[in-house]
Amino acid sequence: MAGRRAVLDFSRLVSFYERLESTTKRLEMRDILVELFRECEPDEAGKIAYLTLGELYPAHVGIELGMAEKLAIRALRLVTGVDEQRIEEMLRKTGDLGLVAEQLLSSRRAQTTLSLEELTVERVYSQLEKIARFSGEGAMEMKVKALSGLLAQASPKEAKYLIRLVTGKMRLGVADMTIIDALASMSGGGKEEIERAYNLCSDIGLVASKVKAEGVKGASSIGMRLGVPVRPMLAERLTSAEEILEKLGNNGYAEYKYDGERMQIHKFDSEIIIFSRRQENITSQFPDVVEMCRRGIKARTAIVECEAVAYDPDTGDMLPFQELMHRRRKYDIEKAAQLYPVSLFFFDALYIDGEPLIDLPLLERRERLARILEVSDNFMLTEGVVVSDPETLDKFMLRAVEAGCEGVMVKDISPKSIYRAGARGWLWIKYKRSYVSKLTDTLDLVVVGAFYGKGKRSGRIGTLLMAAYDDEADVFKTVCKVGTGFKDEDLEHLTRTLTPMAMSQKPARVESIMEPDIWVRPEMVLEIVGDEITLSPIHTCGWGVLAKDAGLAVRFPRFTGRYREDKSPEDATTVKEIIEMYKSQLKTIVGGEESEPT
Ligand code: AMP
Repeated sequence: MAGRRAVLDFSRLVSFYERLESTTKRLEMRDILVELFRECEPDEAGKIAYLTLGELYPAHVGIELGMAEKLAIRALRLVTGVDEQRIEEMLRKTGDLGLVAEQLLSSRRAQTTLSLEELTVERVYSQLEKIARFSGEGAMEMKVKALSGLLAQASPKEAKYLIRLVTGKMRLGVADMTIIDALASMSGGGKEEIERAYNLCSDIGLVASKVKAEGVKGASSIGMRLGVPVRPMLAERLTSAEEILEKLGNNGYAEYKYDGERMQIHKFDSEIIIFSRRQENITSQFPDVVEMCRRGIKARTAIVECEAVAYDPDTGDMLPFQELMHRRRKYDIEKAAQLYPVSLFFFDALYIDGEPLIDLPLLERRERLARILEVSDNFMLTEGVVVSDPETLDKFMLRAVEAGCEGVMVKDISPKSIYRAGARGWLWIKYKRSYVSKLTDTLDLVVVGAFYGKGKRSGRIGTLLMAAYDDEADVFKTVCKVGTGFKDEDLEHLTRTLTPMAMSQKPARVESIMEPDIWVRPEMVLEIVGDEITLSPIHTCGWGVLAKDAGLAVRFPRFTGRYREDKSPEDATTVKEIIEMYKSQLKTIVGGEESEPT
């Protein structure tokens, strides 16, 4: 295999993309990807994995496609001779510059380029790399030139995907987990190893090329590396102290759940890199955190995790999560750091001084973490206690809420309590303050469709169809329609953002009985608060689990004003969590006895 030149034609890849786009079934998607991976070489497999997700590199590299549409239009003018105004008009009608490119190239007269060479995946990828990397003076011109060079060689269908790729609007509906499934299916199993490798390196291209070259063995050879983010361990949720303790064998470690931003900090010698929950490198936004960690982490090399919480420099009080938004800027960063300082609360250590720690039990990891931290006023471990009865847990919860936290995280401390990268599981359970009283839970739900408003709101999106994530089936299942809680600015923002994400048919990974006015690719996560969970004949979340021919719905849902940009759709509230919430509601109603609905 080694040494063979990669030769998959781009037109062949495009034919797979057309098939992916026309299917509405996830399993079919997986099978199409298996066929595709079978046809390519290891090196190409990596590139194809990125391209299929609309990317060139893993998120932490920080180089994205996403050329402005205006520039892409200029490239199209150069190649077709059609003026920009006309192209913009066509774009307004279709909302998809890819389709416009296809139409324009179809009506172009016989190609007059000298080069009759077919575009290969290899060549397209390397040209896209160039386009993404041009910077500084004259960069725009170079981008336009490079793109028009590619378009001149492209067929109409190839042009459609080239344009979608460069403008960052690929969105085939394929998720990283769909690719992992396909790789496992191609290798005849080993999904767990492949997923573990991906969770440790956050690099779908690396995993795809390794699996293609060496099978599952290739995936097993991938480990944690300094400077490369590990996909974060996630939590399940429950709504009562009793249930949580029961789940954890009556012994757990309860910690304050701080309402800030998760950071994974990599230290090697004096270099500090900060990764967000979604594996972006956010170091430049937090020069103060870099300084704090340089001083406060005593190990030479380390990967540790903390929650950064904004606080009021006058009172020292913790501030809500939204205040951290002030740090998302490119300029005046030092000033923002002074105005909106953060405290760091550390809760895990994945690696210290050459030793991976993820397979150690929680309390051992925490002990190692404690040993390397030079604690100060705003640099410390999370507040925590071992709990073994519900009363102690509830008292601790009240203390956490009084201290300004969202609730608590209760963690498994048995010998199996490893750091499960990238996975949700019953090793960490969140218990939020809203559960303490009545069901006014917040849920993080994914927009999958939208309805246009009536009356004052006509012409604008007024209501959204929201879904929860089914992590077993890797699909999104609807759970409510939400039309309240939106300010005018929100509706304008949503109309502007969602219209280009609209699809003519139901996205492949969405399960819905309701038909919205437009379908939307499952990408945007919003925080929703509801009054209770009820059985519903029109929503697919938990369908048939609690009652025949019924799913679950959130009653009286309202938008809280919080766009969960820090969450990917796969991080949304899961169907399982909603089923659990419904069950625990029943328990409260019937006084502790679990009853089945009739
Ligand atoms: P959620 O975002 O509601 O799914 O809750 C999980 C998040 O809580 C994690 O990703 C962390 O950002 C945050 N968090 C706050 N305090 C802790 C803690 N003590 N342990 C783990 N995660 C925490």
